[in-house]
Amino acid sequence: MSHANGARRRSGARERVSGSPRGEAPRVRIELPGLFDLQVNGFAGVDFNAPDLTIDRVGLALDALRATGVTRCLPTLITSPFDAFSASARVLARHADPAIAGIHMEGPYLSPEDGPRGAHPRAHAIPASVDDFRRRQDAADGRIRLVTLAPEVAGALPLIEHLVASGVRAAIGHTAAAPQQIADAISAGATLATHLGNGCAAMLPRHPNPIWELLAADAVFASVIVDGHHLPASTVKAMIRAKRPQHTILVSDAIAAAGRPPGEYRIGGQTCTLGEDGRVSLAGTPYLAGSSLTLDRAIGNTVRFTGLPLEDAVAMA
Ligand SMILES: [Zn+2]
Repeated sequence: MSHANGARRRSGARERVSGSPRGEAPRVRIELPGLFDLQVNGFAGVDFNAPDLTIDRVGLALDALRATGVTRCLPTLITSPFDAFSASARVLARHADPAIAGIHMEGPYLSPEDGPRGAHPRAHAIPASVDDFRRRQDAADGRIRLVTLAPEVAGALPLIEHLVASGVRAAIGHTAAAPQQIADAISAGATLATHLGNGCAAMLPRHPNPIWELLAADAVFASVIVDGHHLPASTVKAMIRAKRPQHTILVSDAIAAAGRPPGEYRIGGQTCTLGEDGRVSLAGTPYLAGSSLTLDRAIGNTVRFTGLPLEDAVAMA
């Protein structure tokens, strides 16, 4: 990644200052270890949720991700019927590239309510069940490593226990859960809050609400989408202060629009619009539908929003 002048030299990141054409401030080139994005729905025109996904298409997306510094990722499959999920999962599972660390299954066991459901199609949001998960995990050849679900959905707690017992991480997200339901999910073994501050109702009681519960749960990590559209800068700063950098994970939640010009893109069966400002919305609605963010830019945004040292932001990615 490139970074404006002013970055300090720290361990793990090497800098080189290059010339300053036209009298501009010198640019600093910073070399970082490979980044890990655990929520990426697609990239560079490729939608991992597309019915016509191929091994070659996945390879194109991984190459483009690598150019932004991401060397490992969890391709993310959102709420969809079993057949659509399994078609994508089979392609991802067959791909031999070590950049794929596994699959993140976001849904279908999410809140069916407008708001917390976000851009996940209501028709395919279903109760949690160990049997349904087993079928999906079989289709994915055992490659599902992370499941985002809503604790208040019927069957969620037994499924979290099953996931944890089988070595799959459980994450809380797209939820309207009551405090006790969140506490129960954490007791059952959930360890991550997926894109905290998004995937919840637009209007919430000031307290209690799921955001405070998840912020206050010290053992729970939080992922955040720091693109300047999903969360205001002050929210990012306050959340990372509460979670501490050690328990914060930067994710892109990128869709096919990332790394592409403004226009129309697909995620699963839905159309999204990438605006001139970089915001991705469900076509014809104001609702966010993933992002066009890249993790290198998320690092830069996090430094600007929080004032934390670059080294801390890099570690979060
Ligand atoms: Zn989501």
